[in-house]
Amino acid sequence: MVARSKGIEMDTEVIIPNGCFTVENTANGTHRTVKVHTARKGNLKDKRIISLLIGCNNDSDYAGFGFVENGVVKVWSKHQDCKVKTWLAQFVANQFGQNPKAIEGVNFLVEKRCIRCNRRLTTPESIKAGIGPECAGKF
Ligand SMILES: [Zn+2]
Repeated sequence: MVARSKGIEMDTEVIIPNGCFTVENTANGTHRTVKVHTARKGNLKDKRIISLLIGCNNDSDYAGFGFVENGVVKVWSKHQDCKVKTWLAQFVANQFGQNPKAIEGVNFLVEKRCIRCNRRLTTPESIKAGIGPECAGKF
């Protein structure tokens, strides 16, 4: 089934799981990490929220910018002018669809945990290595 949202076709039978997803752009060496989680309290309780990693702490420094409902990411109206957020919302939803779009130079990396300390890994180098930089230095 296909639903239309803001002129974009999305598959509503697709489930976007909770977790952290890092999108790496190898062309310019940048990456962005988004988190999808279910709010446990507050006025958004039980809503599933997509947020962007905006600080150094990859467990806590996230700022929400949209809702996730099944296979659809709805960017909150005040963030719809942000090209990065609207692009990430579409890209992440697409990666869990039946026909994930491959974009040259763009890698979609699903969250992993450090093999030494179990911390969440969000940089492309750490995700690929399976270990964080601090722990890699101690081996
Ligand atoms: Zn570690």
